Amino acid sequence: MRKHSLFLPFFRKTRNEVKLSYVYATLVKEYVEKNSDSKLLTTEYHGFSQKLLFKCTCGANFEKTFTKFKNKNQRKCEVCQPLKESIE
Ligand SMILES: [Zn+2]
Repeated sequence: MRKHSLFLPFFRKTRNEVKLSYVYATLVKEYVEKNSDSKLLTTEYHGFSQKLLFKCTCGANFEKTFTKFKNKNQRKCEVCQPLKESIE
């Protein structure tokens, strides 16, 4: 039993929780498509601290939390929209 404890968190998830993460991802995806030219590649959304994978208009993939994307207007990859030092 004990050696399996590492994997328990993955099995604890109920079907509803899995489904919800897809629903959230769909909502985030809609927001991304309406409010930016980037696309969301991540298909599951688990919360504000999760890094989501986006595709920039230049073709590059970049990772960002939805909070940063939404509230800090970080809606492109770091090449198209270099980060200001003060943001991080
Ligand atoms: Zn770019």
